[in-house]
Amino acid sequence: MRLANITWPQAQAYFKENDMVLIGIGSIECHGRHMPLGTDTIIPDHLLKMIEEKSDVLIAPTIPFGACQSLAPYPGTIDIDGEILYQFFRQIMLSLYRHGARKFVILNGHGGNMKTIERLGLEFEEKGCLVAMLNWWLMAWDMNPAWKGGHGGGEETAAILGINPSLVDQSEIGGPLKLFDLSDKLKATGFRSVEFKGVSVEILRATPHVTDSGWIGPDHPNTATIEWGTEMLRTTADYIVDFMEEFKKVPLK
Ligand SMILES: [Zn+2]
Repeated sequence: MRLANITWPQAQAYFKENDMVLIGIGSIECHGRHMPLGTDTIIPDHLLKMIEEKSDVLIAPTIPFGACQSLAPYPGTIDIDGEILYQFFRQIMLSLYRHGARKFVILNGHGGNMKTIERLGLEFEEKGCLVAMLNWWLMAWDMNPAWKGGHGGGEETAAILGINPSLVDQSEIGGPLKLFDLSDKLKATGFRSVEFKGVSVEILRATPHVTDSGWIGPDHPNTATIEWGTEMLRTTADYIVDFMEEFKKVPLK
């Protein structure tokens, strides 16, 4: 059931009986040269479609934008400052709280949003609520370690292939990942991680200073298949339906 599709008396009736709301959030940002900018929003939206078929939890409209500071230089990326995102998301949650929502399930598609969701989660817990942050791509690793992935790598590419293969530009899936090391001994290993003497340290750099195309593994996009994506999305959606049923039973303090 979609909040945007029901009337206010229907919303009133829902909140008389229920206190749970499901909200998706993503981003519009570079995901390598081969993937759509909306990857992090398209995937949660697709999961919500599948969840809606099996769950009666009210679904609020997905927030399409997120905090993407390190990817902001790539053309098309829309970066929302974390403070603005926090205030915007907070207003949505406060409105729903006013109407009776107490359990918030946040289906997140983008790592850069996690700090904001954590802040809101603790704030709303103080108000007697519970906030579940479901980072789908991390949950998928637990469901199947073979699905483990980075940013715009095999995992996310598989998910987009499972939704709509025409959204992936196969001609742009290139060779091995190129990372720009800081020096011979300070090897770049991820968005911000640099390895020195076997230990990982974090050096904060804009992504174009770390890699050229904008995806980061370990999972190469050329490992992605439609089957991987389809199975991963179905498994994740089913898991979220089960999780919400259990979460409903948790008594609030
Ligand atoms: Zn992503």
